[in-house]
Amino acid sequence: MTRTVSVAPPDPTASGTPVALTVDGVEVEVPAGTTVKDAAARVGVVTPTLCWAANLTPVSACRLCVVEVEGARALVPSCSRPVEPGMVVHTDSERVRRSRRLVLELLASSVELDQAPELVDHMATYGADPARFGDGERVSEPVRDVDDLFVRDYERCVLCYKCVEACGDDAQHTWAIAVAGRGFDARIATEFDVALDRSACVYCGNCIGVCPTNALQFRTEYELRAAGDWRPDDQSVTRTVCGFCGVGCNLELHVQDERIVKVTSPVDHEVTSGHLCVKGRFGWAHVHA
Ligand code: SF4
Ligand code: SF4
Repeated sequence: MTRTVSVAPPDPTASGTPVALTVDGVEVEVPAGTTVKDAAARVGVVTPTLCWAANLTPVSACRLCVVEVEGARALVPSCSRPVEPGMVVHTDSERVRRSRRLVLELLASSVELDQAPELVDHMATYGADPARFGDGERVSEPVRDVDDLFVRDYERCVLCYKCVEACGDDAQHTWAIAVAGRGFDARIATEFDVALDRSACVYCGNCIGVCPTNALQFRTEYELRAAGDWRPDDQSVTRTVCGFCGVGCNLELHVQDERIVKVTSPVDHEVTSGHLCVKGRFGWAHVHA
């Protein structure tokens, strides 16, 4: 049995003829080109994601957002699949839940997720039990604690590609990093695996801004965590405008004990879309001089 609900008016910037579909028994109409995930959001369904971000092109690598579409043999990634007329979508079927649970279990059984609170929440939601995979092979890499501005701890890397996208086509257009290797050897690497300061990297930190697991983190955060003094609940976030040039990038200053501990940028800002340059993201030490 289906029911029809009133939904928010279509996004005026979206184009295309309306497409009618059913999501979890609810009929909904959205502009052509809308993704299944966004159509589901219109009827109140929040879809878990990992490699998706509002300011990046979907790569559909993590398979966490999969949903069941009647008539389709395989589960489909809802973050990138456009709606089709008459589609019947199930976002919370047993098959969907089992698939999401397995993805989370495989990730947690091979990398460290204790600084990825959203993934920890998803694991509780789907009853993920990584111990089912026993003492399997885990990613083992020394922390790359060699750069002044940020630290890379690839034992936390889930290979979501977000840093690669942010470094490349989606923001920075530097292409300093990519996924190298296959299977358990797959990893984020610079060209020819050279040190970051010998690569094309310009230290913009846009990779840190999108990393969902803290595999990439500010040196300030890394050192405070090491000292047992990283206290997000005691931090305030103040929005301001970067003063280094006239572009007008917005900054979010994360402040703990009256000291800036990291700088992010709002994803929904029309100038930055969450991305910054090295000066905006890291050029704040003078504030404390
Ligand atoms: S800091 Fe910027 S240039 Fe360097 S790897 Fe990250 S996104 Fe690429
Ligand atoms: S370093 Fe972070 S953003 Fe890059 S692939 Fe790994 S988890 Fe994703």
